Amino acid sequence: MLNLILLGPPGAGKGTQAKRLQDRYGILQISTGDMLRAEVAAGSEVGREAKAVMESGALVSDDIIIRMLGNRIGQPDAAKGFILDGFPRTVPQAQALDRLLAGKGLKLDAVIELRVDDAALVERIAGRFTCARCGAGYHDSFKPPRVAGVCDVCGATEFSRRADDKRETVHARLDAYNRQTAPILPHYAAQGSLRSLDGMADIEAVARQIDAVLDGLRA
Ligand code: ADP
Ligand code: ADP
Ligand code: ZN
Repeated sequence: MLNLILLGPPGAGKGTQAKRLQDRYGILQISTGDMLRAEVAAGSEVGREAKAVMESGALVSDDIIIRMLGNRIGQPDAAKGFILDGFPRTVPQAQALDRLLAGKGLKLDAVIELRVDDAALVERIAGRFTCARCGAGYHDSFKPPRVAGVCDVCGATEFSRRADDKRETVHARLDAYNRQTAPILPHYAAQGSLRSLDGMADIEAVARQIDAVLDGLRA
């Protein structure tokens, strides 16, 4: 059982690394961004409320997010451990998570921060796309499919780009990170669980740094 948080600005590589950890360690990736996009696609009440906020690059309200996350963490597939990707993103969310975990007798094993320069983030976000069928993540320059136009994982040929992955919106999202999310770092530093890694390295090198942190936990 391993409970992790992956922290970092938009485009830092959280989803990429969380998917790898999910495959490698059998722990569940919980991405609040993916959950919200599914709500938007389904046209649910939460989705209708979140859509415009997400497209503007601002954060969805803590109430909605905390309720959604609380439900998700209680499901059986999270029992072997989870990787939180994109949550918590505000101090109230971090506090709510502490209460939620304490209530379930769970603890965090590590909070892994991926540090990436703003210029690199803009480039990563602008080139990001995903397989429309299986959700595998790609990048125009840094992680193109092995065969152009065909998903490595499932062979599908349809891909999608996020509505908020536009250069104009990136600045609002980075701003939200710096103002609202970065203040949770000292919270985890004080708990002694924060590990800050060099997210500027290539995908495999970042994966090796994460594995080293996890190996250290077992030792
Ligand atoms: P996040 O979930 O933090 O927003 P993603 O994992 O979706 O970030 O990564 C953003 C984009 O950058 C994707 O297109 C991904 O393929 C690419 N990417 C992820 N990690 C790296 C890396 N270490 N170096 C270069 N590109 C990366
Ligand atoms: P990225 O990793 O590229 O920042 P996400 O997929 O995590 O993107 O989030 C996309 C958008 O969904 C955010 O800009 C925000 O509007 C909303 N969102 C996702 N997670 C949260 C959260 N924990 N709190 C508030 N808003 C969130
Ligand atoms: Zn696919």
